[in-house]
Amino acid sequence: SQDRIAKQKSNDEITDLADRFNKMLDRMQEYTNQQKEFVQDVSHELRTPVAVLEGHLKMLQRWGKDDPQVLAESLDASVAEVSRMKKLIQEMLDLTRAEQIEVNYIHETTQANETLKQVYGDFVMLHPDFKINMDDTVPPKTIVQIYRNHLMQILIILLDNAVKYSRDRKEINLSASTEGQMLSIAVQDFGVGIDQEDLQRIFARFYRVDKARSRESGGNGLGLPIAKKIVEMYKGTITAESAVGSGTIFRVNLPLAPKKSK
Ligand code: ADP
Repeated sequence: SQDRIAKQKSNDEITDLADRFNKMLDRMQEYTNQQKEFVQDVSHELRTPVAVLEGHLKMLQRWGKDDPQVLAESLDASVAEVSRMKKLIQEMLDLTRAEQIEVNYIHETTQANETLKQVYGDFVMLHPDFKINMDDTVPPKTIVQIYRNHLMQILIILLDNAVKYSRDRKEINLSASTEGQMLSIAVQDFGVGIDQEDLQRIFARFYRVDKARSRESGGNGLGLPIAKKIVEMYKGTITAESAVGSGTIFRVNLPLAPKKSK
């Protein structure tokens, strides 16, 4: 192979070898740093729910036996907190699993219209108070180069956010079209919006513009990083445009499956 070491070494070759070796070390170091950062972030994120849970359990321990109201409230709050943690753990697993897509799913394909219609239908059912407009101009039987469940996951993340960060105008535009060799999807809401500075950071894991609001709605700041990881594994792109107070558009581009020549 290309990397095999030749037996007769000139100086140039040794320099080249050293270069390659150093680059390899750099990559390993970078990887180790990323792992460390991830563990630090995770520990930090788990601290809050664990502290809250501890608080409720202590309340139960001190007053729960005698005060039925404390008993009921603290139990409810504890269960809610555990659910939140469970969701956080599931999302963290999703994020690390997304890194293994290449091996398992990278050759999967799905019919664009079918998947879009299913997600749209489910979403309309789950959010009867929202007006969800669908503008689908994707030619029938268009095949996208992505595992069906991953396309669904991306759409659900974007649609969930559109609902979570909406305000009075409970309306969402979902549109899909093909542009050249790409499927192009847009999810638009008319909610709180994101300012330009935050917009640069929303795809970073655990980043939330408004931690309190996000926590209330069950947000861990992992939805967009998961969506981005998945999209990029399939050589697609995801971008956002937004204006504070008027809403946000997320755009996803995914490669179509290469046409089979007959
Ligand atoms: P979360 O679970 O907190 O929603 P995400 O990774 O999905 O995590 O989003 C990160 C942050 O980006 C959110 O906390 C929110 O502040 C912001 N955000 C995401 N989608 C929208 C949207 N449609 N409108 C306004 N803000 C959004």
